[in-house]
Amino acid sequence: MRFAVLSDIHSNAEALDAVLRACDREAPDAFLCVGDLVGYGPDPSTVIAEVRGRNMVAVRGNHDQAAFDPAEDQYFNDWAREAIGWTRERLSDAELRYLEGLDLTGEADGALLVHASPSEPRAWRYILSASAAGPEFSSFDESVCFIGHSHVPMIIALGESGVQELPASEVSLEPRTRYIVNVGSVGQPRDGDPRAAFGLFDPGERTFRLVRVEYDAEATSRKIVESGLPPFLGERLLAGR
Ligand code: ZN
Repeated sequence: MRFAVLSDIHSNAEALDAVLRACDREAPDAFLCVGDLVGYGPDPSTVIAEVRGRNMVAVRGNHDQAAFDPAEDQYFNDWAREAIGWTRERLSDAELRYLEGLDLTGEADGALLVHASPSEPRAWRYILSASAAGPEFSSFDESVCFIGHSHVPMIIALGESGVQELPASEVSLEPRTRYIVNVGSVGQPRDGDPRAAFGLFDPGERTFRLVRVEYDAEATSRKIVESGLPPFLGERLLAGR
């Protein structure tokens, strides 16, 4: 089995479309999604339909939570809160129920899926460094845990020599080593590279590869402004910040 691993699509239909076309060339057997289908972007229903249509194994992110659970957005900044309010008004009851039905964790061929942190999935804590990732390894048994949430790709390995950050590119997954892998963001990258990010995971070959794909961020940015969402949410797509 080969898996495409997506995260933080954030209602960006153009970025998701570019990623799915890139995936079609790679022909993965299945799709995994580690949360935040909606929020920030202008096309929440399109994204939910694509995720469901591709039968993705998806887990719930904090924006998915806030879409059906308004109390959750007290933790959001003003842009995020405005955008999730906009999203909530546009989703159907069936779409909101789909988001509510997503589990906080998932599993696929020996990999754990969680949006933020495996130790406390509902706390939406950010893992931004090897030192923050270290203690998380004791909270799960799988050899690989896929996460999102920060929108910054990161690969942390726990091997015989301790916890180490690896370049977020292509790695062979060593035996007796465990990994926490942030696959970056499809719909709102924040590592300075505006291209959409996703991962390709082959547990049989024991490889993981981070892929970046160009998409029409200008078009999404225009749609954000035309939809009445905060213009900053469009500007940041062009910078990848
Ligand atoms: Zn997110």
